[in-house]
Amino acid sequence: MTLRNIPSVEQLLQAAEELIRNFGRPLVTQAMRESLEAIRADVRAGADVPSNQALLALAESRLTAWTRPTLEPVINATGVIIHTNLGRAPLSKSAIEAMQAVSAGYSTLEFDMKTGKRGSRLVHAESVLQRLTGAEAAVVVNNNAAAILLALSALARGKRAIIARSQMIEIGGSFRVPDVMKQSGAKLVEVGSTNKVHPSDYEEALAESASQSVVVRAHRSNFKIVGFTEEPSLKEICELAHAHEAIVIDDLGSGTFFNVEKYGLTHEPTILESLAAGADVVTFSGDKLLGGPQAGIIIGKKALLDKIKKHPLARAVRADKTCLAGISATLLHYLKDEAEREIPIWQMISQTPESLKARAAHWQRETGYGEIVPAESTVGGGSLPGENLPTYVLSLNIPKPDAFLAKLRKQSPAIIARTENDRVLFDPRTVLPEQDAVLVKTLKRIL
Ligand SMILES: *Cc1c(COP(=O)(O)O)cnc(C)c1O
Repeated sequence: MTLRNIPSVEQLLQAAEELIRNFGRPLVTQAMRESLEAIRADVRAGADVPSNQALLALAESRLTAWTRPTLEPVINATGVIIHTNLGRAPLSKSAIEAMQAVSAGYSTLEFDMKTGKRGSRLVHAESVLQRLTGAEAAVVVNNNAAAILLALSALARGKRAIIARSQMIEIGGSFRVPDVMKQSGAKLVEVGSTNKVHPSDYEEALAESASQSVVVRAHRSNFKIVGFTEEPSLKEICELAHAHEAIVIDDLGSGTFFNVEKYGLTHEPTILESLAAGADVVTFSGDKLLGGPQAGIIIGKKALLDKIKKHPLARAVRADKTCLAGISATLLHYLKDEAEREIPIWQMISQTPESLKARAAHWQRETGYGEIVPAESTVGGGSLPGENLPTYVLSLNIPKPDAFLAKLRKQSPAIIARTENDRVLFDPRTVLPEQDAVLVKTLKRIL
């Protein structure tokens, strides 16, 4: 009876000192139990009893699989800068340091250093945002979806929320602006047609019940309407709304401090333009074109922000200390006019095709494979739809490109690339300079 030759969990545990040191006794015991069960089934089916060493190896592979993080760093060679699936914006050194510093120990999160008494977490990013934008008040929440939900819940609940039909957008992951508006308790009032909305459309909707209305403008971040289209400017919308004593909430989506036209991209509404046009409340993401950690930022009139801050949902969607530290450090780069130098997404956006070509050529020389071809990077992240930046990529002619992409994903760190016309492309624009060496080493090994 060979089943008897299978060791017990206790016997195996005695030989598993190293595993216990690395994974802890309870987890190792569980892995042994599962491994032995599998072996018993094999032996019953006629297999030989493996050696103790083989049994330990079986347990170890289970333990490794169980404890491997599913959230791990990857090298983004896709050329999509704000890659939502790959974690959006990489952070600046100062932002990382600030987040590390507040998470490693205690901080002044809700502590007033002057009085030594309880303070408010709302103050941390607010003064920088006030100085940067001139807005009267600001609050940072968990993400922009939360910012919109909170702003609408606090300002539009039970009121009519007027929005152009062409702005009833879905952001991704089935997050739809009209759904969020309904969730907030606002009554959705759609105006205009899919491609056109006229000032008179807003006017009519406002005239119906002006004091009970809020106008919402949502930036079409991830698509374009072209052709026979028309939409009043934000300034016109604000003037109409204000004439009827209604407020305007502008969801910018990305929210940028820079005019991206200087990089050859189509104009993206900036945060300052939104305020200048008269928007009462403006919301945007922290991790799109701002280049910081995941956050939602709400800026605007003090009286409105006071209502937002006091709303019960504010607590549920509030930013944590690491987010506040990271956002503040990121905003400081803008304040100190060093954003392009310090914030990775702006470094990436501002790289010239020549410097990208030189990097791709360096990869080619080092690996000895592929060719350098012109291609296009994208800004991504639901910002700047269809906007491409000229780049140069390392292009590999591989018999089975999809299998090669899968192999790249199995590396540590994984490399995420893209294919085009059966070629595997590596775009230097989104690969951090300090990742060049490991990228080259990995490619050399697997090619
Ligand atoms: C991305 C986006 C959102 C959602 O922002 P998150 O920070 O991802 O929650 C909302 N509105 C618009 C217009 C967007 O582009």
